Amino acid sequence: MAELRLTGRSASSGFFEGPVIILTDTAATRVSSGNPSIEAEILRKSIESCRNSLVSLAESADGEAAEMLGFQVAMLEDDALAEGAFAAISQGIAAHEAWRDALNEEIKSYKDADDEYFRARAADLEDIRDGVMAELTGSSKKVDVPSGSILFSRDLPPSRFLKIDWSKGGALLLTEGSPTSHVAMLARSKNVPMIVNLGQIPAENGAFLLVDGGSGSVIVEATEASKREFREKREFEAKIDEMAEKAVRNPAVTRDGTSISVMINVADPLELDQLDWVKCDGIGLVRTEFLFTNERTFPAETPQYQIYRRMLEWANGRPVTIRTLDAGGDKPIPGLTIDGETNPFLGVRGVRLSLLRQDIFRVQLRALARAAVHGPLKVMVPMVTVPSELEQTKALMNEEIAALLAEGIPAALPQMGIMVEVPAAAIAIDLFDADFFSIGSNDLTQYVTAAGRDIGAVADLADTMNPAVLRLIGSVAAYGRTSGRDVSLCGDAGGDPRIIPALLKHGIRSVSVAPKLLARAKQAISEVDLGQMDEAMP
Ligand code: PEP
Ligand code: MG
Repeated sequence: MAELRLTGRSASSGFFEGPVIILTDTAATRVSSGNPSIEAEILRKSIESCRNSLVSLAESADGEAAEMLGFQVAMLEDDALAEGAFAAISQGIAAHEAWRDALNEEIKSYKDADDEYFRARAADLEDIRDGVMAELTGSSKKVDVPSGSILFSRDLPPSRFLKIDWSKGGALLLTEGSPTSHVAMLARSKNVPMIVNLGQIPAENGAFLLVDGGSGSVIVEATEASKREFREKREFEAKIDEMAEKAVRNPAVTRDGTSISVMINVADPLELDQLDWVKCDGIGLVRTEFLFTNERTFPAETPQYQIYRRMLEWANGRPVTIRTLDAGGDKPIPGLTIDGETNPFLGVRGVRLSLLRQDIFRVQLRALARAAVHGPLKVMVPMVTVPSELEQTKALMNEEIAALLAEGIPAALPQMGIMVEVPAAAIAIDLFDADFFSIGSNDLTQYVTAAGRDIGAVADLADTMNPAVLRLIGSVAAYGRTSGRDVSLCGDAGGDPRIIPALLKHGIRSVSVAPKLLARAKQAISEVDLGQMDEAMP
């Protein structure tokens, strides 16, 4: 077979080579008892045992894996999920057919959703469908995949991913799938290279593949020359990672000796367990949306306070910037965000929603004020468009601090700053009386370029290197210098070696990046000479 090159979307970076195992969807069957009440009982029992096996899997999982399994358990416990199936059974349909058809209908509505978040959740529902089907048909769900395999599949349920032993490496290739799906998050957290949207599977079981997750490319039956080139690239990247990792405990300094603060973005407090605080200059962004993943309740004040306090303790005196809830846009929260907005990125999102739902906002502000007693806390308000949104937030914060003190509960006023991610705020930055600014380059870029951050077809336009975006970033940095207020940048551009030189050229002296990008970001900073910047760079 001649060499063949495929390109998809990168979902998790890394290199792997080896034979491929192609997973096909299997159709399970069983014979109906013919009695609706027996069929209903069999379905109930099957749902229950699928739930139990997910619960025990969740007990040995952590972080995102545990969260994803918790989501599936919650779905299975929701009576509404099987309502359609039980109705069909009462009409004489066999349990397995009723279940499969009801779930397929639900899965289709998720797949047809406009929102990528919901489309990505379809894989969870498929996982649940297949789990209960396996119980109904008595077929084992054991995954017979040797560790260190490259899997090629249409999509892969997260629970199936978790049952595979990735300790000897491997890679995951999907003809469909999405980089924002749960299985993609799991692949990133376990360092498994993963590519989605590869279209067709043109290889046969056992074919030898080279997978470059970062560039989203696969070579099938590579020539000797391509193998050499692939291995050289892998070696080269490994050396860069190794060098960067050695220097990661040192502060970031440019070649000409300018110090740059490099902090971390936290999306899940568990990430901190594996990280030494010495490697960063503090926490530049905590995305508190992780607190709102339980479908039934919103987080109470004291558990929130304890989580925030633990983060301050972890940071050991370095600043911790916690962002108030940024629900909406691509982060819907059932029961909180507004359904059916025609363009959720331009809708009731971030502080707009928090000010509408003060019942929830005040609880978060109280928890933050209590945590502020324990260290240098900075509270950051997302999606601020006009100064009154910051002023209202400050007023609510002051009211809650007064109430806490009156109740005899220790509380303090943290620094109050804003995300600069809406062009209206970036352009008129001098009108905002904030203690600090943090540039959200992900949203700022999409709003300035009118190119959605989640739309692959316009990904080339949604580029922070666009001179208009960089000039705006430069003007915010300059205002920070003249007004004496801290300016940082916490969007993905801050950890991107391609963009870091341009950010520094435009006056950025502080970035906040995903923990995994700390080493690479510091390395990229050390290669910049601010005295000799490329004139041609935007
Ligand atoms: C941003 O917009 O750059 C940002 C950091 O926030 P998020 O990605 O959470 O919207
Ligand atoms: Mg944002």
